[in-house]
Amino acid sequence: MIELCDPVRCVAAGCSATTCTGVGLASNDELFARSAAAIPGGVNSSIRAFKSVGGRPYVVARAEGAHVWDAEGTRYIDLVQSYGAVILGHAHPAISAAVSRAAADGTSYGAPTAREMKLAEAIRERVPSCERVRFMNSGTEATSTAVRLARGYTGRDRLVIFHGNFHGATDALLAAGGSGVATLGIPGTAGVPAGAVGETLVVPYNVVPTLDETVAAVIVEPVAANMGVVAPIDGFLSGLRAECDRVGAVLIFDEVITGFRLGPSGAQGRYNVRPDLTTFGKVIGGGLPIGAVGGRREIMETLSPLGPVFHAGTLAGNPIATAAGLTALDLLTDDVYVELERRATRLAELLHDACSSAGLPAHFPHVGTLVGAFIGHDSPVVNFDDARRTDESMYARLFHAMLAERVAMAPGAYEALFVGLGHDDQVLSDLADAAHRAAADAVAH
Ligand SMILES: *Cc1c(COP(=O)(O)O)cnc(C)c1O
Repeated sequence: MIELCDPVRCVAAGCSATTCTGVGLASNDELFARSAAAIPGGVNSSIRAFKSVGGRPYVVARAEGAHVWDAEGTRYIDLVQSYGAVILGHAHPAISAAVSRAAADGTSYGAPTAREMKLAEAIRERVPSCERVRFMNSGTEATSTAVRLARGYTGRDRLVIFHGNFHGATDALLAAGGSGVATLGIPGTAGVPAGAVGETLVVPYNVVPTLDETVAAVIVEPVAANMGVVAPIDGFLSGLRAECDRVGAVLIFDEVITGFRLGPSGAQGRYNVRPDLTTFGKVIGGGLPIGAVGGRREIMETLSPLGPVFHAGTLAGNPIATAAGLTALDLLTDDVYVELERRATRLAELLHDACSSAGLPAHFPHVGTLVGAFIGHDSPVVNFDDARRTDESMYARLFHAMLAERVAMAPGAYEALFVGLGHDDQVLSDLADAAHRAAADAVAH
């Protein structure tokens, strides 16, 4: 019997549903094995490989609102949401329409466009510290550009970063941190030469370091969201502002994850501290590849072509990404943030209830629409050492139990969980039931 072909699952070369007659309908495992033979580890971002939770990933075929479907047609309630990039939910009709319209006008030109201008204006309007904005293609590019800019502007080399913060795959920011003490110049991964992090000092989160006149920039996640979710303690961000001012260092808020998620003006609006530079990504592309650096005019105009700090990008300010991003920012009204925060609070509560009725110590700190999960302990977390008290193997058990209940969490114990406009009350109530069964199951095994 010839099975009819399904274009998302068929692995025949050049398959389209109308011309292919079922040369090969592939399972998740078959597809992933084939990926792994062409792509190292089968993934294009390491976390996706399930290495820290074990097992093989589901291969996504499509997504809509709160749900993703894998290649076998299984539907999951999705709490990954592209790590927060699709804040409106998957395949939001307004985003899809904006993408189609923009694509019909051409996908990239190598010349200025009105779409990039409008997105820059939309960011400046909402985030007053961003007097000028420059676009690139990812959060990683944004942080590497911000670092070069801060160094070029100050004429200094030293960077200060915080243990457990994440700023993408930028060499100078991939430094290893020690436990509770400041460490300087130790590469955080193979392939980063000692010289690339020789001027990078790693200090504990939530403690204001004493700086000196060698420091070009302090770069910080104003709410840490890559070591679980850790809020800044009172006085931390304003203390960084004062200390940077004292020595003439540039204060960079890495708002790649918090930007346009903790409200229209991000973490800086929420905590009322004005950085010199801000990096963006994720939400500002409406789910398409983008990054941006915004900041004080005087610093931003140190960038080429006005100033001596080089920056360029073939696809930077991409017309499709900026069209999607502009649509997302337009739809993110105050009412939408209130609703998303309500849902995030509900998510944290229902996960807490599920774990506590299973007798599993856990807590789910949330700031705005960001929800973190600390599994296996319920003591407060203010820095990376605290976060590391997480029971990683229990997280892995919970992760797989949730997946068996058709709920997709991030395959790593230190990632945030995301709800969007697709997670309505029905989805959240189904999620609560699933989480209760999954938590009990995780504890039992
Ligand atoms: C995701 C993230 C980045 C990296 O952005 P990419 O687009 O993945 O390169 C940088 N900083 C923070 C805080 C992030 O959450």
